[in-house]
Amino acid sequence: MSRIIVLGAGIGGLSAAIALAGEGHEVTVIDRDPPPPDLSTDAAFEEWQRRGVGQLRHSHAFLARLYQLIRENHPALLADLLEAGCRELKFADTVPMPLVPSYVPEKGDEHLTILSSRRTTLELIMRRYAARQPDVTFRTDEVVEGLIAEKNADGQAVVHGVTLRSGEKVTGDLVVDAMGRLNPGADWLKELGVHIREEEAPAGIVYFTRHYRIKQGMREPERTAAPGAADLGFLKFGVFPGDNGCFSITLAVPEAERTLSKAILDTDVFDRICRSIPGLAPWLEEERTEPRSKVFLMGNLFSRWRHMTEAGKPHALNYFPLGDCHIRTNPLYGRGCSFAAIQAHILRDVLRTEKDPTARALAYHAAVSEEIRPYYDNMVKQDLGAIKRARHELTPGYKPGFKARLVKRFTEDGINIAIRSDIHLYRAFMQGFHMLAHPTAWLLENKKNLAKVLWIWARGRRWNRKYYPPRTGPGRTELFNALGLPKDADLITDQA
Ligand SMILES: Cc1cc2nc3c(=O)[nH]c(=O)nc-3n(C[C@H](O)[C@H](O)[C@H](O)COP(=O)(O)OP(=O)(O)OC[C@H]3O[C@@H](n4cnc5c(N)ncnc54)[C@H](O)[C@@H]3O)c2cc1C
Repeated sequence: MSRIIVLGAGIGGLSAAIALAGEGHEVTVIDRDPPPPDLSTDAAFEEWQRRGVGQLRHSHAFLARLYQLIRENHPALLADLLEAGCRELKFADTVPMPLVPSYVPEKGDEHLTILSSRRTTLELIMRRYAARQPDVTFRTDEVVEGLIAEKNADGQAVVHGVTLRSGEKVTGDLVVDAMGRLNPGADWLKELGVHIREEEAPAGIVYFTRHYRIKQGMREPERTAAPGAADLGFLKFGVFPGDNGCFSITLAVPEAERTLSKAILDTDVFDRICRSIPGLAPWLEEERTEPRSKVFLMGNLFSRWRHMTEAGKPHALNYFPLGDCHIRTNPLYGRGCSFAAIQAHILRDVLRTEKDPTARALAYHAAVSEEIRPYYDNMVKQDLGAIKRARHELTPGYKPGFKARLVKRFTEDGINIAIRSDIHLYRAFMQGFHMLAHPTAWLLENKKNLAKVLWIWARGRRWNRKYYPPRTGPGRTELFNALGLPKDADLITDQA
């Protein structure tokens, strides 16, 4: 039995508390923010003060990997979430329109389910569920200000607890650090003389979200061939069906598009952009929908991996970072909450089998790397490509080279069309997307799939035309003209 102190009651801290409950430990969760209001999910959305979670009111979707972890390990929590209005978006609901008429469910499709709700709802229900566990205690309105730790002869931090702003010292056997994106844990270790190597890469986008509700007596629009999420090059968009008649729309804009970014903060401009996109317009029909929020903005988005071991040696003992404080990613992929939950369950398993602090730290970090690193690397690579493309979009006269043209054609006319025309390829792709399989193995390590994609590509646009989506949205010039924005404002003339 261990006395475990969990720092932070966001998705990571709650996942840790829930995973470690019932394991014979004594778990204390400490958070800087007040407890959730003892009110409805709507009141929580409107009123819950969460200064510690800047992204609380941005669109969140919870991928199949997280859904599966909850379903298999905590069925009572899943029942609570569904009872509160969280929705299961099944694989069948996402099958590309050209494949819908011939789609026949297969065993395993039930695992490809997205859990969909406002983030406040997911967090509220997880929080109430965690608080009901007999061995979990919450301490709220308590800011953690430092670690109680010393450096041992091997140069490692040996952690024994934390200091609160009130001056109180809370000691325990293990500290689980889940204090999120702005986490100071690495600085505290540095003060002790323990340096954590960090890898960082830009996400290259700014995020904008607005919330809406379907009016009483009205229904969500029927699915059509126009996609509810896509990338227009200068603008990415997505609609997130939520709980209890709510939904949100997120627009993500390359950082270089400063004029557009400024304009989108205006609710009127936000809605006009959405109405110009065929897959979003029906959601915003006036008789169907009412807005429920301002436009929320989040910038300074980047990926970061903190290396907690070096040359086979952990930097810290009895200290387990998880969630954004350890691995931070571009929200566009919707993987952050799943990462945090995966880490929490790895920690549970490691604590079951390993007793020695060094063995525990090594086993934890090895398993986290093995499970999560392939997705992290894949996302960073995609982000760097997207940043380049956004820059080219703004560079007058830019002409892509042969390789760039080939990659673009292979992606747009090969991969994207192949997964819209073959259910087996779509299923394999989605398993990677949802982290139920390696992100790219379905294509790069599966010769049959690769051959199929190449064959579909080789058939050519005319043969494949029924698999292309309809026009996804306006071009940049068209949208800027419609909004009265100066389209030349952010052009890149300096080629340096
Ligand atoms: C705009 C945006 C959209 C996103 N969309 C998605 C999505 O669709 N799907 C998805 O899976 N992920 C998404 N993510 C990522 C996801 O929000 C995070 O990965 C997830 O919240 C990480 O959980 P966490 O517990 O590490 O941090 P958080 O959930 O941020 O929680 C950190 C907690 O620590 C507490 N805390 C901080 N400092 C202190 C302190 N000094 N003392 C005490 N308590 C403290 C805070 O109050 C908070 O409760 C998104 C992120 C952003 C920025």
